[in-house]
Amino acid sequence: MTQIYDRVALIGLGLIASSMFWAIKRAGLAGEVTGYARSEATRETARRIGLCDRVCDTAQEAVEDADLVVLCVPVGAMGAVAGDIAPVLKPGATVSDVGSVKRHVIKAVSQHIPDGVHFIPAHPLAGTEHSGPEAGFAELFDNRWCLLVPVEGSDIGAIAQLRAFWEGMGSNVDEMDADHHDLVLAVTSHAPHLIAYTMVGVADDLRRVTDTEVIKYSAAGFRDFTRIAASDPTMWRDVFLTNKDATLEILGRFTEELFALQRAIRTGDGEQLFDYFTRTRAIRRGIIDAGQDTDAPDFGRGKTST
Ligand code: NAP
Repeated sequence: MTQIYDRVALIGLGLIASSMFWAIKRAGLAGEVTGYARSEATRETARRIGLCDRVCDTAQEAVEDADLVVLCVPVGAMGAVAGDIAPVLKPGATVSDVGSVKRHVIKAVSQHIPDGVHFIPAHPLAGTEHSGPEAGFAELFDNRWCLLVPVEGSDIGAIAQLRAFWEGMGSNVDEMDADHHDLVLAVTSHAPHLIAYTMVGVADDLRRVTDTEVIKYSAAGFRDFTRIAASDPTMWRDVFLTNKDATLEILGRFTEELFALQRAIRTGDGEQLFDYFTRTRAIRRGIIDAGQDTDAPDFGRGKTST
């Protein structure tokens, strides 16, 4: 048990914040954790399940006297929330976030951060398709990466403290600049989500099939797509609207590759298909070797994913 902050405030009480709370408690990383969610219903649920030591009715009340404030709301809401809490932030406190896009969050939040308060954006690469205060669990971040994205002039001591905090929650921690983060995530998460949404949408358009065979006989590939495509619509709408350039760049490349494979199928170029699939298989091997997934059969899929 190593306490890293006296008081932590979690703003937004969904999957990520609730997982953070349980992980903070597991390791004893904070003296007190306060929480706030905009809806009465979420605050009530949080109180009922013991999520946070104290659930507050306003964001300002939750952040008062907090040493670390973590914004856990959709990317598009970060700026407004930061503006709301700015007047009551404690001098010397650190403000961070968990948003899936960084350049936009930095632009939206930085302008509200008062002098004497540190702003250190972060992004845990861990999640599930579930959302809300009851979706969280303490192990979500275990052995998953958390990327810190310090802004110019960030305080070294405050970064080290936030790093220790995420490590205490089970994460491996790395630092990255915002543009690079947004490009990497467009490849590894954002474009794949859009492709999954599209594939499930295509199946849904073929209603005659989906009502029967696709659901009844759904194979692992389609099932995985449906799991990803069940992710929260608000969160993912905001991701695509705020990481527009990097996502469009990757989708452009994806479309070119898809056309090439389409041509190989049409012309019967088995060698090209075989070589391509051999190359992609090696990437899967690399992910398993890096400990980011297992090769155990998991046809229902485990509860953690990214
Ligand atoms: P979530 O479970 O849907 O919870 C979102 C929380 O934000 C809820 O408490 C909600 O309040 C609040 N909220 C929604 N819209 C708001 C608004 N306009 N103003 C103020 N509060 C608002 O979401 P999550 O999965 O925890 O995601 C939170 C953040 O983590 C997002 O920025 C997302 O990009 C990032 N992230 C998500 C994942 C993932 O896989 N889910 C992974 C890594 C990072 P109410 O409940 O009162 O509506």
